[in-house]
Amino acid sequence: MKIDIVSVFPEFFDVLRLSLLGKAQDKGLISIAAHDLRDWTHDVHHCVDDTPVGGGAGMVMKPEVWGECLDDLLRADAGRPTLIFPNPSAPLFTQSDATELSGADHLIFGCGRYEGYDARIPEHYRACGIDVREYSIGDYVLNGGEVAAAAMLEAITRLIPGFMGNPESIVEESYTGRNALLEHRQYTKPAQWRGLDVPTILLSGDHGKVDRYRRDEAMRRTDRIRPDLIGRLVCSELDKADLALLGSLGWDLSGEHPTRIE
Ligand code: SAM
Repeated sequence: MKIDIVSVFPEFFDVLRLSLLGKAQDKGLISIAAHDLRDWTHDVHHCVDDTPVGGGAGMVMKPEVWGECLDDLLRADAGRPTLIFPNPSAPLFTQSDATELSGADHLIFGCGRYEGYDARIPEHYRACGIDVREYSIGDYVLNGGEVAAAAMLEAITRLIPGFMGNPESIVEESYTGRNALLEHRQYTKPAQWRGLDVPTILLSGDHGKVDRYRRDEAMRRTDRIRPDLIGRLVCSELDKADLALLGSLGWDLSGEHPTRIE
């Protein structure tokens, strides 16, 4: 996968040389290039922003500079590019978006700053037939798109086959697959630490019981923290023990999806 990132702070992305992302680049699984948007300016001040049309505080990123930059990156494209603009007022980026995008050939992230980028930039490239996505990474406002782009990039690339040392470790994670739940809590040795015990069932060596304990724990946590995920489960795909537990937690399981009994 080829990844281009456009930012006014390209050095921010030096961290992507670390850890598994660095190894994936060394292996040739992904290539990442961070570009300075100011390289596409023509004025002496390398200006990328201007005042908002209609008035108001702050500055907005200019479409002409972005246009020249993205045209160049798209011209150098060999596969099917996907343009991604981090934006707090866009749909939420989820694990299923990460899964879908892990199969992409070429991702181009456009990092906004200031009050954001001119709305005609994504509109123009969509009209040109490019796959353009705008995503928020959460209900809060960051100073710029760099942190958001890095978060999405990491969530996407770790799902590329061959990225993880042990591919099993991404199979049963939170938010993953149909009937996704939050993951159960994890423990390691020692069995006792500062007066706190690992749940004894996890030490039993009985894999069936351990799996059931973890599944129940995942269900209880999801019910408590993210009941919206329980509401998306497909009842016909749950086993008897799942149904019994959810029933005891106050879910009606007679429909296609669980609904909370008021
Ligand atoms: N005026 C914008 C608003 O109120 O929605 C906020 C602009 S923010 C200060 C500047 C840039 O940071 C955005 O263009 C976007 O690229 C990025 N950004 C900030 N928060 C984000 C979030 N939650 N998710 C994704 N990108 C975000």
